[in-house]
Amino acid sequence: MTEGRSGLFAAFSKGNLVSRSSLMEAFHDSGILEDDIRYLPLLKRLKSCSEQLTEADFQGLQECSPALFEQVLSGQLAIPQFHDFCADVEDIYDKVSLIKDGKLADYIPQLQRVDPEKFSISICSIDGQRMSLGDADDSFCVQSCSKPITYCLALEEHGEEEVHRYVGAEPSGKTFNELALNSKGLPHNPMINAGAIMCGALIKAGSESADRFDYVISRWRDFAGGAKIGFDNAVYLSERQTADRNFALGYFMREKKAFPPDADLLDVLDFYFQCCSIEASTKSLSIIAATLANGGNCPLTGVQVMRPDHVKNCLSLMSSCGMYDFSGEFAFKVGIPAKSGVSGAILLVVPNVAGFAVWSPRLDELGNSVRGVEFCRRLVSRFKFHTFDSMVGLTDDRVDPRRNLYASRFGGITALCWAAYGDDVAEMRRLVAIGIDPASHDYDRRTALHIAASEGKLNSLRYLLSLGVNINPLDRWGKTPLDDAEMQGHQGASSLLAEHGGQRQSAPARKNN
Ligand code: GLU
Repeated sequence: MTEGRSGLFAAFSKGNLVSRSSLMEAFHDSGILEDDIRYLPLLKRLKSCSEQLTEADFQGLQECSPALFEQVLSGQLAIPQFHDFCADVEDIYDKVSLIKDGKLADYIPQLQRVDPEKFSISICSIDGQRMSLGDADDSFCVQSCSKPITYCLALEEHGEEEVHRYVGAEPSGKTFNELALNSKGLPHNPMINAGAIMCGALIKAGSESADRFDYVISRWRDFAGGAKIGFDNAVYLSERQTADRNFALGYFMREKKAFPPDADLLDVLDFYFQCCSIEASTKSLSIIAATLANGGNCPLTGVQVMRPDHVKNCLSLMSSCGMYDFSGEFAFKVGIPAKSGVSGAILLVVPNVAGFAVWSPRLDELGNSVRGVEFCRRLVSRFKFHTFDSMVGLTDDRVDPRRNLYASRFGGITALCWAAYGDDVAEMRRLVAIGIDPASHDYDRRTALHIAASEGKLNSLRYLLSLGVNINPLDRWGKTPLDDAEMQGHQGASSLLAEHGGQRQSAPARKNN
């Protein structure tokens, strides 16, 4: 520990002192915000220090928030290059904000009156790195984004087996409020209205409705790490007044004897309307999404809000049923567990990485936010966030932001060059199989082919040529692999390269030198 600490100090010090602003910058660039309760004690102390910190000051700071201090300064966070990641997300946000398609939900006046231009995106990584864009402080009713939480709370109280005696786990293939039950007379899944009404019936069933509501709101706040969660009474009253379909669903389920004994239908429906009327901003929703991404542990408070196995159940159903009638295509194209609501919100969970919340009220014909869906599509076209992007051997240009780009990219290239140097084709094949581009180059633009040529390693050369890599890449000195092979007097390597179209570029290179 002591060794680690002095290592950190050495990394940041200049003339045996560390500048206070460099530390604050490190926290800021990592996405650790000033209202983060893990950071507050450290920040308070930091602000009371002078600009130049001694090693003793530095250790004093470290003791305020030891885990966070070490994580941030040694770059051990879920998204190491957070700053670059945010710049990419901002670029997506700017492009998506130009989209004006879609219509506001109009079944209640409160949703019809929302400014259609509103747009915000918030991110919270599983290490509590946060960023928001647009109207991220505006609150809106969460609508169906409440369904995953209602399901989690039902699971917590009764366990998977009992909950699924009352609700299925299959996509319905029908619209979210379709008057339809499965072959057992149960709701198809917890992510559609009938299923959420049913899960609500399982939460604190014997309690007074006021106590139950208090309980649910307090659990929402646990998920959100204490961030603001409110309630929109006007939405609730409207929901209740225009709820013919939900009443019909409730009566249909009662007729089928689907509810647990003693469930009071009107009370259960009322609870469902209350859940739809919970109010949040994308800032708070992204923390909820991050808690789900982090196996139920809130990244900001460290509180285990929900059991990981229950979170797993919830994410599975979000994956297959979370985006209304678009769920299958969304799972195919985007491949991230998500839940959307008719207020234009989308809760997006990238397991073990981050939670996202998007809000833009204009909806497509299926009830999903137009900009929200486009944001998700663009997100996975830039980042390897699709559930199956971890597939071995899958290579493309997209970025995996959870890896330290420098360490992973250059670590891979270095390994490939060492394998070429050792003429170890099996190791080269393994590296290529895990996604290392055989044509990649290091800082000096040296490729594995340059190394194999310089060292006269024929097996490596043959292997690289069989992969169809560019035979004449130029390193920073303008040299091709054939130049290297000839310069080192490797006859066999020179002939092999020449046979495959290898060329000399050494003349202009020497001029450059
Ligand atoms: N509150 C509305 C309903 O229950 C819609 C919820 C939603 O899908 O976002 O019909």
